[in-house]
Amino acid sequence: MTVIKRNFSDFDTAKFMRFLNEAVRKQEKVSFEMTRPVNESVVHYLVEITPIYIRGDHIGTIVLKKDITEHKMNLEKVMQLNRQLHGLATRDGLTQAYNRYFFDERLQQEIDLVNRLQAYGRKPDKSINNFGLIMFDIDHFKIYNDTNGHLAGDELLQTIVSIVKDALYPTDVLCRYGGEEFAVICRQTPEKGIRVAAEKIRKTVENYNFKFQDKQPGGNLTVSIGAAYCSTANMQKDDLIKKADNNLYLAKNSGRNRVVF
Ligand code: GH3
Ligand code: MG
Ligand code: MG
Repeated sequence: MTVIKRNFSDFDTAKFMRFLNEAVRKQEKVSFEMTRPVNESVVHYLVEITPIYIRGDHIGTIVLKKDITEHKMNLEKVMQLNRQLHGLATRDGLTQAYNRYFFDERLQQEIDLVNRLQAYGRKPDKSINNFGLIMFDIDHFKIYNDTNGHLAGDELLQTIVSIVKDALYPTDVLCRYGGEEFAVICRQTPEKGIRVAAEKIRKTVENYNFKFQDKQPGGNLTVSIGAAYCSTANMQKDDLIKKADNNLYLAKNSGRNRVVF
């Protein structure tokens, strides 16, 4: 007890006493972790308390204190690496939007969810049983690159991802589908909501004052948008993408900076 009191805080000493009493009361081994600040860092211990009984009499207690700092640090490093790997596998390196691989997986999951809910006989209700796919593409991006250089183009892609992400709900999944084409999965959103989200993207980009945008055709940098809605069972992923992509093509051909749904 003196050793514990000398080396640990009042809080940890109280904790130690609590576990000690518990071990003796239950007549079984207990283990827990304690920390001790040393210089700038912290040392982690695993403490094991084993009460010894002979014919029901408590004759003593073995206390084992093991330094697990290195083990803890290794574990933290592994977890950090895992997070990093997950990021590399699912996100686009330039913009940090989700990548194509993640998009494909996520879209299929959303279709599966609608199928499952429909199988229970639920009509697409206000928000649960349906979702939308929005695809958008930067207008005259080639001109932007040719006029301002590829580095400026890259920076523009990053800015667009950041402002569009801010404009959408946190549950919407923004992905970089190709070079300068993006896809958004609007989860659990009714038809009207998809329209609102698409228009929000269009307006956000239209109103943002991008670097060098005055040199773009019309003096403004804009995006064209195609959207599709899914509320029916057995929708095929590729058909849905085709629908949105086709609408995007129509938006481009009918004058750009518009939504076709
Ligand atoms: P539209 O309005 O019809 O979409 O015209 P656009 O010029 O945007 O379309 P187009 O498909 O002809 O050109 C796309 C350009 O996107 C070509 C390339 O210069 C640019 N691009 C694609 N990926 C990247 C990238 O990662 N970085 C940069 N800087 N440019 C890219
Ligand atoms: Mg384009
Ligand atoms: Mg394009």
